Amino acid sequence: MNIILLGPPGAGKGTQAKILVDGRGMVQLSTGDMLRAAKSSGTDMGNKVAAVMEAGQLVTDEIVIGLIAEKLDGEASGGFIFDGFPRTLAQADALGALLVSKGASLDHVIEMQVDDQALVDRITSRSTCGSCGEGYNDISKPIPANGICSKCNGSDFQRRSDDNEDSLKNRLMAYYKETSPLIGYYYAKEVLTSVDGLADIDEVESSISSALG
Ligand code: AMP
Repeated sequence: MNIILLGPPGAGKGTQAKILVDGRGMVQLSTGDMLRAAKSSGTDMGNKVAAVMEAGQLVTDEIVIGLIAEKLDGEASGGFIFDGFPRTLAQADALGALLVSKGASLDHVIEMQVDDQALVDRITSRSTCGSCGEGYNDISKPIPANGICSKCNGSDFQRRSDDNEDSLKNRLMAYYKETSPLIGYYYAKEVLTSVDGLADIDEVESSISSALG
């Protein structure tokens, strides 16, 4: 089964993707993670996209489609979770064509709905463990008082450099202008389910689970 988690920045796509990876053996394909990895390892492509990402604008379709095309050659018996991809209609068309070329299908698109103020609050208060990637949030899931990650005992916590108000405004604008048309696109393809992304993590998990069957 191949699925897309669709929603604005801060909707909880990464959190739910990790739950699906652990619970169903699916493979998470996050273009944001791939681009950040390219940036930190200083590849030509990483250097090219760094400023665009920092400003909260979209990287070109060509680059992200290329990243996804490479990963689709890999094995994923539990299926792929597309997280943060597609973000434009051109990317959605390209993904459809790539899946067809592999004899695969897109089974579900889960739209995670969250209101704008909640997104701003979530994003400006989130951090991750630098060792294992466990997510924390100053409001709903603070870093343990002893400063030690509850999952891996790491003690290095990081905030994303693009999780600031200016960049966030651009990211939200890009979502409404370029990505939100995909809601109608996938509704018309009869693969869309919308869930309340503001509910507790466990409730969102169970709504997604019911949608996937
Ligand atoms: P994310 O981690 O999904 O929030 O992505 C972080 C940043 O990477 C975005 O603000 C964009 O600059 C870039 N990015 C990630 N995925 C895409 C995509 N599918 N299309 C264009 N830009 C992307």
